[in-house]
Amino acid sequence: MAIMTSPASLPSPQTFQPVLDRIAAEIEKTPGRGRPADYIPALAACDPRRFGMAVAEPDGTVYGVGDWRQPFSTQSITKVFTLALDLAREGDALWEHVGREPSGNPFNSLVQLEYENGIPRNPFINAGALVVTDRLQTQTGDAAETLLAFLRTESGNDQLSINEDVAASEAKHGDRNAALGHFMAAYGNIDNPVPVLLDQYFRQCSIEASCADLALATGFLARHGIRADGSRLLDRSQAKHINAIMLTCGTYDAAGDFAYRVGLPGKSGVGGGIIAVVPGHCTLCVWSPGLDERGNSVAGLAALDRFTTLTGLSVF
Ligand code: GLU
Repeated sequence: MAIMTSPASLPSPQTFQPVLDRIAAEIEKTPGRGRPADYIPALAACDPRRFGMAVAEPDGTVYGVGDWRQPFSTQSITKVFTLALDLAREGDALWEHVGREPSGNPFNSLVQLEYENGIPRNPFINAGALVVTDRLQTQTGDAAETLLAFLRTESGNDQLSINEDVAASEAKHGDRNAALGHFMAAYGNIDNPVPVLLDQYFRQCSIEASCADLALATGFLARHGIRADGSRLLDRSQAKHINAIMLTCGTYDAAGDFAYRVGLPGKSGVGGGIIAVVPGHCTLCVWSPGLDERGNSVAGLAALDRFTTLTGLSVF
């Protein structure tokens, strides 16, 4: 097996499977795996030693290793898809309601919102994601179902579903998100009743999908905005914009370290999943539920770091 180390010689897709197998073997030997999120009780029971990883080519061919077909809680990974679905509908008008700068603060922080007049820094912190979901709700009448339908179609898996127990657990422990919603509503930056928005947001975060599903569903970002069936969701610039925001804001307040180590647009969630994009080449999803102190999967980050090192595939 030839594993590429030079960006000048990009790997052929056939080398993906041996690379994944090698990464899984390395991860298996790693002792520390972090801790599953416990602020959503329904997520706390996950075994941090679970690990899966998938790579999808733009034509829909998918490779995987470990628990790559095991559904897990997608959580904040869904923020990429709601952003794409809303941008496709309302275009640049969205940017009057949410910014595009890294926040440097934890994902559920309230502090910046007050001195920035209820306009969240970016669509991937919770405040920004609430704004995007609110706007998608206005556009579609059911943001979570619109998202679920999109994920089912792009992944080719019509079994994808919302875990209602997780959604209920989030709602029960969702005071911070409720505070963010009400605070932005006070600034006139939320259209829908806050309880409706929160219900949509918690249901969105509680969609379960596997690494294979999510690697495939992210494919439109590797195909510069083109969906799995060949139709266009986003124009090329919009796809570039989303990839850029993933790179700068996609991994909580660790986006700088993620860019340094992995060098790809990525988005993580507290369920332990991370998606990543090699524009024009492939998409990845890795899952392992143990998180570091900033909310990113420990093994997931390590695996993506190894993938870009072994293959030379990165945007740099
Ligand atoms: N549903 C979670 C929350 O709003 C998502 C957090 C995340 O994955 O970053 O707290």
